[in-house]
Amino acid sequence: MGSPELVEAEVHVTGRVQGVGFRPFIYRLAVRHGLKGYVINLGDAGVEVVVEGIGERVDEFINSIKTEAPSVSEVRGVHASYKPYRGRFTEFVIDKSRGATKAASGIFPPDIGICPDCLMDMEDPKVRWYEYPFTACAWCGPRFTGVKSLPYDRERTHMYDFPMCDDCVTDYRNPLDRRFDAQGITCSYCGPRMSLLDASGKVIEVRDVFAAAAKLLREGHIVAIKGIGGFHLAALATDDTPVTKLRERKKRPYQPFALMAPDMSAVRSFAEPDANESRALVSWQKPIILIKKNGQVISEQVAPGLNRVGVMLPYTGIQIMLFKRLRVPALIMTSGNRSGRPMAITNDAAMNDLEGMVDYFLVHDREIVNRCDDSLLRMNGGRVAFIRRSRGYVPDPIEIPVKKGISFAVGTEQSNVASVTLDGKCYQTQYLGDIANLESFDYEKKAIYAMRDLLKITRNPDVIACDQHPDYMTSQLAEVISQETGARIIKSQHHHAHIVSVCAENGIKPDERVVGIALDGTGYGPDGSIWGGEVLISTYFDHNRAGHLQYLPMPGGDLCTYSPYRMLIAGLTLTLNDEEIRDITKNHIEKALLHGVEEFEVLIKQARNEGVIKTSSSGRLLDSVASLLGLTYRRTYEGEPAMRLEALANLGDANNIDFNPQISNNNGIYQLKTDNMLNFLTINQNRFKKQDIAAFAQKYITLGITDIALDVARAEGINTVALSGGVTVNQYISNTIVDKLEKQGINVLTNQKTAPGDGGSSLGQSGIALVAVI
Ligand SMILES: [Zn+2]
Ligand SMILES: [Zn+2]
Repeated sequence: MGSPELVEAEVHVTGRVQGVGFRPFIYRLAVRHGLKGYVINLGDAGVEVVVEGIGERVDEFINSIKTEAPSVSEVRGVHASYKPYRGRFTEFVIDKSRGATKAASGIFPPDIGICPDCLMDMEDPKVRWYEYPFTACAWCGPRFTGVKSLPYDRERTHMYDFPMCDDCVTDYRNPLDRRFDAQGITCSYCGPRMSLLDASGKVIEVRDVFAAAAKLLREGHIVAIKGIGGFHLAALATDDTPVTKLRERKKRPYQPFALMAPDMSAVRSFAEPDANESRALVSWQKPIILIKKNGQVISEQVAPGLNRVGVMLPYTGIQIMLFKRLRVPALIMTSGNRSGRPMAITNDAAMNDLEGMVDYFLVHDREIVNRCDDSLLRMNGGRVAFIRRSRGYVPDPIEIPVKKGISFAVGTEQSNVASVTLDGKCYQTQYLGDIANLESFDYEKKAIYAMRDLLKITRNPDVIACDQHPDYMTSQLAEVISQETGARIIKSQHHHAHIVSVCAENGIKPDERVVGIALDGTGYGPDGSIWGGEVLISTYFDHNRAGHLQYLPMPGGDLCTYSPYRMLIAGLTLTLNDEEIRDITKNHIEKALLHGVEEFEVLIKQARNEGVIKTSSSGRLLDSVASLLGLTYRRTYEGEPAMRLEALANLGDANNIDFNPQISNNNGIYQLKTDNMLNFLTINQNRFKKQDIAAFAQKYITLGITDIALDVARAEGINTVALSGGVTVNQYISNTIVDKLEKQGINVLTNQKTAPGDGGSSLGQSGIALVAVI
């Protein structure tokens, strides 16, 4: 190579290279290197480039494909083969005729945050995008939220209602322009428009809607803002009054609100992002990242009792314009939905759903086709922990090693995400929320069928996958879809699905055995108990329970989830008599139990009843310690007690408490004893600092479960541990388990592409169901 002679090269580029301005990028690169030839899309197989020219320039061209690719693309492979020069071409062209094969691919990218070039256009008074909030190009703008069907062409997107003006048409046809062939392009002459409405829906006539909205926000009003995937409720984050008002109106006393900050220096004024978090914040996906607060600038009411706050940067021109007029370091930007319902996406629905909650509406006249919440994640060192995988990531497929078959997986019940898997690629839907009423049931069904249609799947699935829980509404949905498609249902055990979700996204073969650690709140156990602190020996086909947290009574089931002090009292019945429990809890009962002493008396009786529901849940155990410390007596949002416990634990030192994990082995199944630990902490609660108790509780579970997993791995000759479950979002818990096992030479896998919590379940369900029927 490097010869001065003329050559021809055929180059195949694979990865995310369609719908992201990749062909015009190749065009410009080829022209720059004086090469002739063509570039075309190849279905979902990537892009094919044929070039001829001076050998040295061809080599440079090929090297630059990887190094200069647009940031939203993802070049996974560049394979070149050289041929003798034939002088076949007179110029370089983008081959549109064969480009039509993109119809077959079903591939289009997720929504992409506004790019630096478009931001510059919005700042330039000489161009037709000056301060125009819908500015977009081939490298940025809505995708998933705007697509009705494939192929991804303008007439099948939300831009259909806005025919291009002559100038936009010219840009669209010019391969040298970054708007070339970009379906979302538009400008201030031909594109969508904003308007400001009062609470009754009446248009407020103003010259500059952003200046007007900014003024209203500054005055403390709550403004609903229509975005690309739904509505946000915006309020000033720097002042207690609007935050408290929003809490009252949304009936959300403590649940943290997400913030949006105009730029990184604003983020640093109220939070302390580390290098990984900063990188994630500025990425084109623009997720919400949970970052350590510094206690300054923003109201304590934004994330009460927590040490972290969710922050994102602007990803649309609308948000850019708002901050330009507003000049504040942070706005609350929370989902515009009524509790338990999907987010509003039409102006009418927003008027209806958000009535009484907001004072003004900042809306536009472009349709939202697919609802999509903001993604929420946490960086645990270099590892990602998704709490909500949605905008920016959907519909990017997750490759799994089961390469054949079609499955629809309905997931679980809380924070749900469904999955459609086609020939080795799992397409997770957007975040669907809790599936607990007809509206969300219907939303999930539509989301599954919409994903099927987007992927152009015309035959019925081979299998429908769901959880074993008989009472989940999603299990009923599986029945309905099974009847409509004729496909059979495969049910999987909740924690088995968590473990297989890790295996599937990490390419572990279906019959390879791993030791799985699943730590979460609630999952249906085949023995009728509620599982949630499990060590399993698992393949896709099967799982064996090798160890778990000790069973504690859980009288009234879910009542203990909402009222964690019940869990504590119930746990104490294993080591103390009624009189002792009465004595040690007497100062808390009135505050901690809704029905006071009466409830207490019923509770201890139930807890001692043989038939009481039992649980090995690690989430419930952490909750009970949170209630012992008075952090949460009544849970107002999912994960509240454990999150507050983690915030306090960060200030403490677990080593100030000397008490080692107690592990027993009954009939080959390990148990991490937790009753003595609860007893010890309760009896000694005044001897130790609260923060040390919090840190200790996390450490106890972490070390205990790690020891069990290590013993099982050694005994079984298994070298891979798969770690999953909602509790592993906790930084200390996941990092410690990973570190300890890696030091012992164990290969530890975690969820990096889907949520370790229940949002990832449908991925695991898909793997389990497919291997059962294919
Ligand atoms: Zn752009
Ligand atoms: Zn235009």
